[in-house]
Amino acid sequence: MLVPLAKLSCPAYQCFHALKIKKNYLPLCGTRWSSTSVVPRITTHYTIYPRDKDKRWEGVNMERFAEEADVVIVGAGPAGLSAAVRLKQLATKHEKDIRVCLVEKAAQIGAHTLSGACLDPRAFEELFPDWKEKGAPLNTPVTEDRFGILTEKYRIPVPILPGLPMNNHGNYIVRLGHLVSWMGEQAEALGVEVYPGYAAAEVLFHEDSSVKGIATNDVGIQKDGAPKTTFERGLELHAKVTIFAEGCHGHLAKQLYKKFDLRANCDPQTYGIGLKELWIIDEKKWKPGRVDHTVGWPLDRHTYGGSFLYHLNEGEPLVALGFVVGLDYQNPYLSPFREFQRWKHHPSIQPTLEGGKRIAYGARALNEGGFQSIPKLTFPGGLLIGCSPGFMNVPKIKGSHTAMKSGILAAESIFNQLTGENLQSKTIGSDSDQLKPAKDCTPIEYPKPDGQISFDLLSSVALSGTNHEHDQPAHLTLKDDSIPVNRNLSIYDGPEQRFCPAGVYEFVPLEQGDGFRLQINAQNCVHCKTCDIKDPSQNINWVVPEGGGGPAYNGM
Ligand SMILES: Cc1cc2nc3c(=O)[nH]c(=O)nc-3n(C[C@H](O)[C@H](O)[C@H](O)COP(=O)(O)OP(=O)(O)OC[C@H]3O[C@@H](n4cnc5c(N)ncnc54)[C@H](O)[C@@H]3O)c2cc1C
Ligand code: SF4
Repeated sequence: MLVPLAKLSCPAYQCFHALKIKKNYLPLCGTRWSSTSVVPRITTHYTIYPRDKDKRWEGVNMERFAEEADVVIVGAGPAGLSAAVRLKQLATKHEKDIRVCLVEKAAQIGAHTLSGACLDPRAFEELFPDWKEKGAPLNTPVTEDRFGILTEKYRIPVPILPGLPMNNHGNYIVRLGHLVSWMGEQAEALGVEVYPGYAAAEVLFHEDSSVKGIATNDVGIQKDGAPKTTFERGLELHAKVTIFAEGCHGHLAKQLYKKFDLRANCDPQTYGIGLKELWIIDEKKWKPGRVDHTVGWPLDRHTYGGSFLYHLNEGEPLVALGFVVGLDYQNPYLSPFREFQRWKHHPSIQPTLEGGKRIAYGARALNEGGFQSIPKLTFPGGLLIGCSPGFMNVPKIKGSHTAMKSGILAAESIFNQLTGENLQSKTIGSDSDQLKPAKDCTPIEYPKPDGQISFDLLSSVALSGTNHEHDQPAHLTLKDDSIPVNRNLSIYDGPEQRFCPAGVYEFVPLEQGDGFRLQINAQNCVHCKTCDIKDPSQNINWVVPEGGGGPAYNGM
């Protein structure tokens, strides 16, 4: 269920909040934003307030059931599924029996996938040479490539010569969510145990610090962090090898970087946020196979980014369009969502959409660091693949084929070692620094959405199908609840209100006087991970919510 942004302060909510405030006041250093000496507790998640020190958890059975597998994979995107499929293909070919389990936080495989997507098919063809006979959803070969530099009123066409990164000859325009869903079916047919709706919440370690596997998330925890009567502990999945394929800015990968110092010899990773919509357009304007990219307007010359507009051939006049903004932007008043809405009004874009209907919306962060930002990929008991470590070809803006290829290579090397029986552990940059203080920047006046071509945030999030169990602790956890007001609001004018593409963060007036508090509308989160990357105080830690929660994309 969507939470109506800013209008959330209904009396019931206020009462509830007032009670919580009384119980949970924390000390606060005074700022011009808050007149009180305390801030309400916002974060109730057990990763910040451990349950073993919480009286409400006394006597609750915390034992977990454990399963043993040969390989456990976290994340059913192109990378995780390619690894799973290749492992089982090799097992079949060499008549070996290996148990491969794959967990995915989306309720359905593909429902959290969001991409462009123009696919370079080479890794996919390596995995499924007979994909045409098998009916894989690659329906739209690229027939036309366009690239332009936009000024406010004009478009300067740029020729795309063979060999340039933007040349898409031989590629396919796909709905990556559908392709991933098809790959999930292939994986299951090969004997992979696929578990959608299960988020890996914790990395498990052996006594020698090697990775032992993962634990899926607990369910049945109240918003205030207390157990419900329906509380159930997650499941432990132990494995000889655990593959982390969480996609860009994986939350378990972040822990692994620290634990094994994996980023010691690489550049910091940098990121962009990609926002996307699907439209059914007037059939007369539909050019199946056309790929169109732009750079320039509405972004200024200090802000990196650009757009894509792909015409799909899926039996109806469908286009996928999106806008990417580099998260190293400096002006805290910038809203990637509103830049995207503004871009659609350009004279070279708007005519394609006029008379059409928007049918879907979503957002996701993507890596922009390139090859030099890839960390060490392996550590005792596990490894990283896909966009989690950053296998993204930045000049081509393509990561699906490199994600697949990294999954294939990981599977081949794991299979050799597993069947050679020598694989066992002994016992068994970043973007957030870039924002300038608000006082040094000019607020951006965005035009009002017209409801035809451009839209507001709430109606957009409604099209992402996002849903979370309402009564659970917010999975957007704050290391320090006072920082959003004390630092982010006072120095940067609360940039989380603008960089979140789902309106999760709002500064609302304090109930008991002047000043503000941060309200987190966690139910609206589309799992793009932008806040974890862009928060100038690095105070937000995105953790997995109850499995199955999040967007319900259909072929994004
Ligand atoms: C707007 C945009 C446009 C793009 N355009 C293109 C393009 O045109 N061509 C191209 O090749 N690439 C494109 N990319 C990049 C491409 O989408 C990625 O490179 C690719 O999806 C990476 O695959 P992956 O499997 O590593 O990660 P993902 O596709 O992100 O998959 C990771 C999966 O892991 C799941 N997961 C994460 N954490 C957990 C957890 N803890 N427990 C359980 N499950 C978890 C997620 O729900 C997700 O399903 C684009 C990306 C964006 C955002
Ligand atoms: S809360 Fe964070 S992860 Fe969720 S939609 Fe907003 S920016 Fe993205």
